[in-house]
Amino acid sequence: MSKRVMNPATRVAAVALATAGLGASLVAGAGSAFAAEGKAVVPTAATASAAVAAQAETQAHLAAQVKAAAAKKTVAVKATAVKATATKKAVTAKKAPAWVKPVSSYTLSASFNQGGAMWAHKHSGQDFAVPVGTPVKAAGAGTVVKAGPYGGGDGPAYGNAIVIKHANGKYSQYAHLSKIQVKIGQKVGAGQRIALSGNTGNSSGPHLHFEIRTTPNYGSAVNPAAFLRAHGVGI
Ligand SMILES: [Zn+2]
Repeated sequence: MSKRVMNPATRVAAVALATAGLGASLVAGAGSAFAAEGKAVVPTAATASAAVAAQAETQAHLAAQVKAAAAKKTVAVKATAVKATATKKAVTAKKAPAWVKPVSSYTLSASFNQGGAMWAHKHSGQDFAVPVGTPVKAAGAGTVVKAGPYGGGDGPAYGNAIVIKHANGKYSQYAHLSKIQVKIGQKVGAGQRIALSGNTGNSSGPHLHFEIRTTPNYGSAVNPAAFLRAHGVGI
């Protein structure tokens, strides 16, 4: 603070400035500046008026800035909303089906629960007759929990096989493969290639054996054709 005693004119200016909305600190700052110059500066009424006018102008300017910022914000919010809508549309348009056929082109052969000399019990899956080397795709998104020879652990009859765990609690199984192209723990998307079909294990000819299971293991299979059809996949 200035030790200088405020003269009446300064007081008038200070009052005017304070009235105009200037804080006490600004008045003190002005006073300090006066003191620093080492001489008493007597602000004239004109100076005070100019300060008031300047302050008014500043406030008007600030108000304009606030208004502009608000307008800008409104535009930005609108733009964001438009962008969100566009993104939503794009997602809807691009949304891949949750379930797909495990092979694209095939002839349905042995069906679920079919009896026959090939199986110790009834047939636990749906067979898709395809040439050896046909790309096999994950029927749905999930995580690979079995992948390897001997049915990935389920038994030699399956040959090279893969089991995928899905978010709905079901498991899909792919057997008699010629080449496994995923590893245990790998996440896959619906329709992602996971293997090439083959004729390994207890197989009467080139085909994909496909199961839907309620657990990762043999013995928990449900009708895979009915499952796919119930999930919008016509086979
Ligand atoms: Zn089969």
